[in-house]
Amino acid sequence: MANLNIDSIKTRTFDAIVIGSGMSGGWAAKEFTDKGLKTLVVERGRDVKHIKDYPTTNLYPWEFAHNGEVPQDIQKANPIINRCYAFKEDAMHFFVKDAEHPYVQEKPFDWIRGYQVGGKSLMWARQTQRWSNFDFEGPARDGFAVDWPIRYQDLAPWYSYVEKFAGISGHADGIPQLPDGEFLPAFPLNCVEDYFSKQIKGKYANRHVISARCAHLSEQKAIHAQQGRGQCQNRTLCQRGCPFGGYFSSNSSTIPWAMRSGHLTLRSDSVVHSILYDEQQGRATGIRVIDAHTKAVTEYYAPILFVNAGALNTNLLLLNSTSRRFPQGLGNDNGLLGKFVAFHNYSARISAEYEGFQDLTTDGRNPAGGGYIPRFRNVFKQETNFLRGYAAGFGASRYFGSDSDGLGVDFKKSLENPTLGPWQVGSHMMGETIPKETNYVRLDPKHKDEWGMPLLSVSVDYDDNDAKMKQDFYEQFTEMYTKAGFTNIKTINSKQAPGLDIHEMGGVRMGHDPKTSLLNKWNQLHACPNVYVTDGACMTSTSTQNPSLTYMALTARAVDHAVQAAKRRDA
Ligand SMILES: Cc1cc2nc3c(=O)[nH]c(=O)nc-3n(C[C@H](O)[C@H](O)[C@H](O)COP(=O)(O)OP(=O)(O)OC[C@H]3O[C@@H](n4cnc5c(N)ncnc54)[C@H](O)[C@@H]3O)c2cc1C
Ligand code: SF4
Repeated sequence: MANLNIDSIKTRTFDAIVIGSGMSGGWAAKEFTDKGLKTLVVERGRDVKHIKDYPTTNLYPWEFAHNGEVPQDIQKANPIINRCYAFKEDAMHFFVKDAEHPYVQEKPFDWIRGYQVGGKSLMWARQTQRWSNFDFEGPARDGFAVDWPIRYQDLAPWYSYVEKFAGISGHADGIPQLPDGEFLPAFPLNCVEDYFSKQIKGKYANRHVISARCAHLSEQKAIHAQQGRGQCQNRTLCQRGCPFGGYFSSNSSTIPWAMRSGHLTLRSDSVVHSILYDEQQGRATGIRVIDAHTKAVTEYYAPILFVNAGALNTNLLLLNSTSRRFPQGLGNDNGLLGKFVAFHNYSARISAEYEGFQDLTTDGRNPAGGGYIPRFRNVFKQETNFLRGYAAGFGASRYFGSDSDGLGVDFKKSLENPTLGPWQVGSHMMGETIPKETNYVRLDPKHKDEWGMPLLSVSVDYDDNDAKMKQDFYEQFTEMYTKAGFTNIKTINSKQAPGLDIHEMGGVRMGHDPKTSLLNKWNQLHACPNVYVTDGACMTSTSTQNPSLTYMALTARAVDHAVQAAKRRDA
């Protein structure tokens, strides 16, 4: 009987365990299995197989029961996720419903989640920009957070590495605060976007309107063919899951790649409850997992653990991993676990009209979404009354109107000859928020979920710096729009709660000093180095760029380090 027990432990023992199969967990799975490690990926949600589990991907508009809109009863039952622009009839099956996974809002916070194999990599808008040294040096320069333990040079080769595999479209624009990468051809700007780009270039020294950089295969290279992914067809139905693998997701790319290696075991419907810590060995030894349906408890073991549950869930999991050595949560000697959470501020927009180019319209669709305006405030010197800055999206489109009255030939003619209104332009701000100790998550002392995990309690808010930054965005963009000859300029304050930007970061931040940070420069917990955190929880500050490409690069780099370190221990 004893032998049977040993055999059972053996089947539950791996070379590496990855918690979460989303954007960053998928990369950990790929990297470990590429290096020949027997790897277990544990995912709390259901399995979503590429193509097979994209139920709406090939539906025509008229095949949707509600013309693409979310029925009112579902909207009412889900006031939080219903605020997300992507929560529509064709993609709503990828969103965590409000009632199914409750959390506590000490302050309003819209937590948007995707619990499934692939996580939020199925739902994202695929904007991918590298961070620059202005971001990594920022905290040291203006003192708004602790110093990053790495610089751009540490990550640059890893950005190149993940970009080549994932496939990123973009131009080499030569902008210091937005490093160029390994680009596939960019999706072109339309005539008004291009006009604005030229106007801004002519009128400002350090402001740029460029083609958005995006994780789409504008061209299929051999490495993408090997993944079974084809060139993007510009359908712009990406939120449904793309049958061509035209955009990067864990489901189309890293997870099947890891599976083909023969080294991956994927356990979906398995909620990781906590990480096991062995005091005698002075290291983490495995994980405790609750079956999502039967609630049966199983333990799995490995010498290397990667936590990629998505920023706030990673905080929750570490806080819930208590032991005699770590009574406040794994690695939490300094009491800072869960603190210094930060995010992006997407609450300001500005729109206008342009009377030019009346003879032109758009042809085809741009899956990259148009233009991108990199941060231009406080880059080379502090020039405003707020810290850091903002980037912005920029897009132009033409109003299309059709007279849908009538029948037969007249009706067809009116559909084929829509009335074109003036060009409409719009920008949305992507502001960097300052990580603060008072922005935190913690375990709710009273309430647990049905898997026995304490509910996550979130206390995150904007501050005076965000208000000043927003004001500056309105002023600067009004000036730029006016100079470009745009009219009917309107500023919009969405007044949305934090969280809706879906770029939550921090709580397990990196740093040099174990007194002020949780992770070292290789993403290892200072106090428990065989546990690595490489999702958004590890971020020391937030930059103005979208974050996921940086999670991917940090993950690939950290796996490389973990495998080398394991080899050194064996040697
Ligand atoms: C509508 C939308 C648009 C976005 N647009 C962009 C964009 O343009 N650019 C960009 O950079 N980012 C964008 N994002 C954000 C991006 O999707 C996330 O930054 C990214 O997916 C985070 O990767 P992750 O691995 O940390 O988490 P996720 O991708 O969320 O994966 C985490 C996984 O862990 C699982 N998990 C959680 N807890 C447990 C547990 N206890 N046990 C087991 N498994 C667990 C979850 O089910 C999930 O599958 C967008 C997101 C959304 C929803
Ligand atoms: S635009 Fe490209 S990635 Fe999006 S659904 Fe179409 S083919 Fe797929």
